[in-house]
Parts: sequence; C-alpha cells; structure tokens
Amino acid sequence: MMRKRKLRALFSVMLIMFLLVSLIGCGQKDKDDSESSGTSTKTESTFKAGTYTGVGKGNNGDIKVEVEVDDDSILAINVLEHNETKGLSDAAFDEIPNTVIEGQTLAVDTVSGATNSSNGLIEAITEALKAAGGDINELSKNKATNETAREDKEYTTDVVVIGAGGAGLAAAVSAHENGAKVIVLEKMPQPGGNTIISGAAYNAVDPVRQSKQGIEDSVDKHYTQTYEGGDMKGDPELVRTLVENAYPTLQWLEGLGMEFTDEVFTVLGGLWPRAHKPVKPLGTGYIETYMSYIEKSNDEIQVLVNTEAKELIVENDVVVGVKAEGKNGNVVVNAKSVVMAAGGFGANVDMRNEYNSLWPDLTNLKTTNHPGATGDGIAMGEQVEANLVGMEYIQLLPMGDPETGSLSGNIEQGVENRIFVNKDGNRFVDEGARRDVMTKALMEQSDQTMWVIVDKHSYPTGDTKNNFNESIDDLVAAGRAYKADTLEDLAKQIGVDSASFVKAVEGFNNAVDAGTDEFGRTLFDQKLDTAPFYAGARVPTVHHTMGGLQINTDAQVLNKEGQVIKGLYAAGEVTGGIHGTNRLGGNALADVNTFGRIAGQNAAIGK
Ligand code: ADP
Repeated sequence: MMRKRKLRALFSVMLIMFLLVSLIGCGQKDKDDSESSGTSTKTESTFKAGTYTGVGKGNNGDIKVEVEVDDDSILAINVLEHNETKGLSDAAFDEIPNTVIEGQTLAVDTVSGATNSSNGLIEAITEALKAAGGDINELSKNKATNETAREDKEYTTDVVVIGAGGAGLAAAVSAHENGAKVIVLEKMPQPGGNTIISGAAYNAVDPVRQSKQGIEDSVDKHYTQTYEGGDMKGDPELVRTLVENAYPTLQWLEGLGMEFTDEVFTVLGGLWPRAHKPVKPLGTGYIETYMSYIEKSNDEIQVLVNTEAKELIVENDVVVGVKAEGKNGNVVVNAKSVVMAAGGFGANVDMRNEYNSLWPDLTNLKTTNHPGATGDGIAMGEQVEANLVGMEYIQLLPMGDPETGSLSGNIEQGVENRIFVNKDGNRFVDEGARRDVMTKALMEQSDQTMWVIVDKHSYPTGDTKNNFNESIDDLVAAGRAYKADTLEDLAKQIGVDSASFVKAVEGFNNAVDAGTDEFGRTLFDQKLDTAPFYAGARVPTVHHTMGGLQINTDAQVLNKEGQVIKGLYAAGEVTGGIHGTNRLGGNALADVNTFGRIAGQNAAIGK
C-alpha cells in the first residue's frame, strides 16, 4: 500500500516537472520566434480606445451611458441620461457600472428590485462596448471573480429594526427621536420595500385640506368605514389607534420634510375623499424623507442593506437581538429591543396558497409586490410563539399590469373620474366600491381583463403623469395605453363593441347628473365627455396580505396566550388584525407610518 502511494507521488512530481519544462520551453520558443521574425508580441487589443455611448430601455424610457475604454480595458462608465424614478433604481446605478469595471465583464447580475433599470443599464453599456469593438460574447461569459473574504460582524445597539420599508424606517426615526441608537437590517440592495413602489396614498381626516374642499369627514367616519370595510374582523382598538393617529403622524412626516399636495382625493377602494397624495412619485417621498433624516443622524441610525434577518435572539424570554446573514458573512445585532417590520408575503406563492381563504387558487396571479415580500417576519415571529391573526385575508386589486401584475401603467387619477369596462365594452361594477368587491366582479368578466377609461379631465396635457411617474404620452407610445379623439375610435382600438361602449359612457355621464347609477355608485365628479379619451388594460393582482403578527395598541407583539413578548415590537404589513378581510385603499400608508412611529417610540423607551 505504502509503496504504491510513494510511487504515485513520485510520478505526480515528475509529471508536474515535465509540464513546467514544456511550458517554459514553449514560452522560450515563442520568444525566440518573435525575436527572429521581428514582430511584436502584443496580443490583439480588446477595444478601440476612446469614449462611446450606448442606449438601453429602462422602466421610464431610455437610459444613455458613456463608456470610456483604452485598448485593453473598460475605464469608466457614466450615466448621461435616464428617466428612472429616483429611489427605485439607485442601487442599479450605484452597483452595475462598478461591477462591470471591477470584473471587466458584462456578466453581471441585475439588482434585485430594480430589474428593468438594471437590464436597461446593461443593455446601454453593452451597446457602447460593441461600438468600441469589444467582443460581446467574450465579455458576457461568466468569469471567476475574486471572492471577497468572509467576515462575520457583531453589533450592539439600542433598537434593531428588521426591514427598511415604510414601517421600519418610521420606527427607526421615531426610536432615534426618543433617544435610541438604531440599526436597520434590510435584505434587499436598497431600502423601500413595497412602500416605495406603492400608489402612496395616505388616508387621514384632515381639518385643513378637507374643509377647504368642502368635504365632510370625521375620525368616527374613518373608523366606521375601516372597520366595516373589513367586515368587522379588525381589532376595534387597533382601528381606533390607526384613525386617531393618522393625521398627527402625517403632520409628523411633514415636519420631517415630507410633502403632500394640497388636495385630498378618493383612492381606489378608499371609499371617501381623504387620501393625501405625496408630491414625489410613488412612495419615494416617504423613503427619501426617512433616509434624509437617517443620513443626518451621525451614524446613530445605520441601515445595513443586503443583510437578511434570519432569527430572533431570545434570552430569558426577552427578545434581545437578531441573527442575520450579510453578503460577506454573518451579522449579529444585540439590542435592548427589536422592531419587526419585514412586510407581507404577497410575493410568496406557497404562503399565499397556504393561508388564502377568500379567493380561488392564487398560484398564477401576479403581484404588485417587490420580490422581498416573502413573509420572513411572520416566520421569525412564529419561532418565538407570536400569535398570527387574519392570515387568510389576502387583498387583490383589479389594477394589475397585464404583463407584470405591478401597479405601474395604471391610468386612473382618482376614483371619481374613471370607469371600468369589460371586453364587451360594458360597465360591470360600482367603481367606487371596496377593493374585494371590484376584484371579484372583475374575476367574473371574460379573460378577467378590464379597461380603465378616462378623459382629458385626468390628463389635461400629454405630459401629465400618473402616480407612477409615467406620462400618458409615454404610456400611449409604449402601447400600454390607448388614446382617441372619439369614443368610437377608442372602442375600435381596444377591440370592444363600439355601440355598447358609447352607451356605457353615456350611462355614466347620466349617473353623474343623477348622483347614482344601476351599480349603486355614489362617487362622481366630472363626466367623461372631453377628448382625448384614454383606455388602459388591467387584471387582478395580489396586493396586500392583511394577516400577520398580533400586536396591541403599543405595537408590542403578543403571544398565543395574549401576553406581550418582551422586547419585540412590530409594525406595518407584517402585522395582522387591523384591516380585517379587506383593507381600505389609502389605509396602508397610514398604518405603516402610524404604527411604525409607535413601535419605534416604545422600543426606544422600553415600554
Ligand atoms: P411595510 O409597508 O410594512 O414597511 P415594506 O414591504 O415596505 O413593508 O417593507 C418591508 C421591508 O422588509 C422590505 O424592504 C423587505 O425587503 C424587508 N425584509 C423582508 N424580509 C426581511 C428579512 N428577513 N431581513 C431584512 N429585511 C427584510
């Protein structure tokens, strides 16, 4: 045995020596040859040195880059122009050019949560490198990269927050205002979660704006609509806390620099005109507001992105920290208290099928949610015996983009001035109804597809934008919306029966005068009578998971015996028991910010 092994080792050494000698020999030969022939040894250059531009398609149009190369390498990448929404795509613009330059490769991953911007950027860089004479096939091959050395990290702080969406960042800021040092763990490459891609409407009874618009409202009315709109399955005390604190929290946000427009409106399924519209597109205003506070906090609040919380640390029945996984190693955060704000599970098909009781099978429905909405916070809560409530209540919207399920491309600008028609050109539901009512009605229409119809009142000019930073002209140009000067022409373009369609619009216009209609609609403003007319297709989509960790009005998490789990607070979509079976449109942002703020404060003071 021993002898055999020795012989094998000797043979291996000889083989290596032989290979080395041959290699050196070859090298020598090449050298000699080139010297004798007098030609240069320089290999063919990879690029033609210079600066080149390229264009790719992002979410909101073209992304234009300038790439500088010398003969052998990519030296610099500058983004010259883009129309992507600030906050949504920042991580792609930060990461991708660096990764391309560092690895000298086009084989780079898209940034999770910013896929379209990433692809547009990579496309633009590719085009520029092609113009530079680069071999795109070669550049696109996966190269072995130097693995960054793994390094585990341990932190100690006052409050650790899981999730950097609206609820988590509200909690972080509020905890800091109450004297705490804070670490926020965010598993995605950038903060924002579902909050940043939401329609962003914020319901609050507003004595200033509503009275200026002559809108009658009260906290009691908001309470009743919220409680009854969820079939009285929400916890009355939590609903009360929500509606009473929605306006003070909105003022708190304004104090932090958040801007809302002067007029309130009725958001889809919001039932009443009390929705506040941020000045900035989508939910970017909330995240920017919190992040700019955090940037000024002298690192007293730190947000660790690409860091996925895995497990709560419990000592003597008190939650005292979080174990997480960073990009390059494990992360442990020890703290006096933990705020769970990891959002819902709309993007987790297994979980929604496990719990769904309101809808037919949800396997094939798309979602408005970002890919990180996978219910991790619920799983972590379960590990410490948190009670789960309302898990079976999942909200669908009738407003998904047919391709992606996202809210983008939605042309409605409020409830009052638009109707829905089915593929026959007929209206089929009260378009001011609850979200579940409208979605159920849509599911009964052929192909489960409808058209949202608006007119010039919603888009006075072609560059008027929807809530998602998209102008109507761009949507039409991209084939995501249709435009016509007559109803007949619009009907033709969208392939619905013209006579039925014209009759449906006329019926609606009569209802505006009458104040009601055959579907029981009561929310009206303008008639659909002014060209141009627009149509956009929409399908059902999974939007919000209303169930989750049970909390009390102090945002403390409760266990299955109804007792407080010490050290653990929760806020936002990860919690359950507020919205019952159906959440009113505009109540999520009110909930997320209100309970985020309460959770942060109580986590800081150790209530
Ligand atoms: P909410 O509206 O309740 O704030 P969001 O969806 O806006 O919910 O934010 C939740 C955030 O939590 C998202 O940014 C999501 O990526 C993050 N998140 C989810 N699971 C984890 C996890 N295991 N660790 C860290 N962050 C997480």
